[in-house]
Amino acid sequence: MKRRALLSVSDKTGLVEFARVLVAAGIEVISTGGTKKVLDEQNIPTIGIEEVTGFPEMLDGRVKTLHPKIHGGLLGRRDLASHLEAMQAHEITPIDFVVVNLYPFKETIVKPDVTEADAIENIDIGGPSMLRSAAKNFASVTVIVDPSDYDKVAEEIKVTGQTSLETRKSLAAKTFRHTASYDALIAQYFSQIVGETTPEKLTLTYDLRQTLRYGENSHQQASFYRSILPKAYSMASATQLNGKELSYNNIKDADAAIRIIREFTEPTAVALKHMNPCGIGTGPTIKAAFDRCFDADKVSIFGGIIVLNRPVDLPTAEVMRSIFLELIIAPSFEADALALLAQKKNLRLLTLDFSEKNTEEDEFVSVLGGLLVQNQDVIEENPENWQVVTKRQPTETEMQALIFAWKAVKHVKSNAILLANEHQTVGVGAGQMNRVGSVKIAVEQAKAAGKLEGAVMSSDAFFPMSDSVEYAAQNGIQAIIQPGGSIKDQDSIDMADKYGIAMVFTNVRHFRH
Ligand code: 5GP
Repeated sequence: MKRRALLSVSDKTGLVEFARVLVAAGIEVISTGGTKKVLDEQNIPTIGIEEVTGFPEMLDGRVKTLHPKIHGGLLGRRDLASHLEAMQAHEITPIDFVVVNLYPFKETIVKPDVTEADAIENIDIGGPSMLRSAAKNFASVTVIVDPSDYDKVAEEIKVTGQTSLETRKSLAAKTFRHTASYDALIAQYFSQIVGETTPEKLTLTYDLRQTLRYGENSHQQASFYRSILPKAYSMASATQLNGKELSYNNIKDADAAIRIIREFTEPTAVALKHMNPCGIGTGPTIKAAFDRCFDADKVSIFGGIIVLNRPVDLPTAEVMRSIFLELIIAPSFEADALALLAQKKNLRLLTLDFSEKNTEEDEFVSVLGGLLVQNQDVIEENPENWQVVTKRQPTETEMQALIFAWKAVKHVKSNAILLANEHQTVGVGAGQMNRVGSVKIAVEQAKAAGKLEGAVMSSDAFFPMSDSVEYAAQNGIQAIIQPGGSIKDQDSIDMADKYGIAMVFTNVRHFRH
């Protein structure tokens, strides 16, 4: 039996050349009205769609290809006897190639004088149906929705007489992306007309988890969408046990805290305020970890978000209860700890299953008119590859503190400077517009808390000049970790040597803006 291709395109670019390749390979071409006309003019033999369906194109083209003779030919499985028998019984001929691109809905609605009637007529119904039928049956059917794929498929047909399964599957995936975004735009257009707007991207792979009472401020409206297929633990998968409804700022801050706790495997507690950690503590028990986290900065934790990576026990709950907190997240709460904390009606308590760690999900940041997309800042770093650039090597204790400080500083807003010992942060300088400004804040904080002694310093990016190292040295910092990479690195190294500081270069920068 001759193989068949169905061609029905609005955008006729490259159509004729591609049809010639099909015909040369002995493939019969079926086409719809406008497409057939173009092919007829070039003397390319085609079968009209009505010859296949036994129906005329009708209702002003609204119904051309919506027919079992077409969809049966696309969807019927070639590997199932029952399908083949049914197709034979109903005289349905298999269709092996579908080349369709859709009515120009977007081009229509962006016209300044577009009417609703124009928009409606440019919603393609039969095209997406054929595309989806063909894509579903990629095991046997090749589907092309984009003229830029003609060349690749033509090449395969010329060389092998057919297409590979891999190609067909990839074209199917592209087709489903295309029909999904085509429908998303139609949805957005009509939602706008009826005043029910949803950010357009969200209709694709997100669904509404929660309409929030307000956004970052009380005059802003906000909602929380979650991935339809979340890949890892996150605020979208947390379960709330107690307290007021989550706010926009709670969710953002808790997300930042969750990213930090992912860095640590030992018992760890993170306290977070306004997108920056104010305390991170580790210890042999969750109580010891929380005590260090609290002790890191007893002032800033007020109104903070706490994330812990071990079940909360009563002693830990007792300390937390004594502080005003917005929200606590942990894998679980022991019954007595929960009962105690739940006495605070407003305190949000959430559990999160910390076992499914996955950092593959891309991050999106909205900018006016678009989105920025990047993968997460999760590069594997091995301290064995770090370089000590100073005369003095860090001691073993200093090295432990540097590793801790390096894990923590990447979660502080740039310019980020963080002071730490091996178990806790002792000073955080976040978000200043010059690096030495962040150093001063971090040092001041550690000094006020009496924790400067023995502290090490981490910097999320290189020091552009030696003033930060000098300031740190004058305040007793003994070891520094930073990416390196400034043309003035040598000035910082010389300054460190002058004060007997041990300095480590990681070669990896961790801006967080
Ligand atoms: P042609 O220019 O060949 O007359 O029409 C091609 C266009 O018709 C393509 O964009 C294709 O997606 C669309 N189309 C094919 N079959 C149907 C159908 O049954 N209904 C509608 N509304 N559009 C169709």
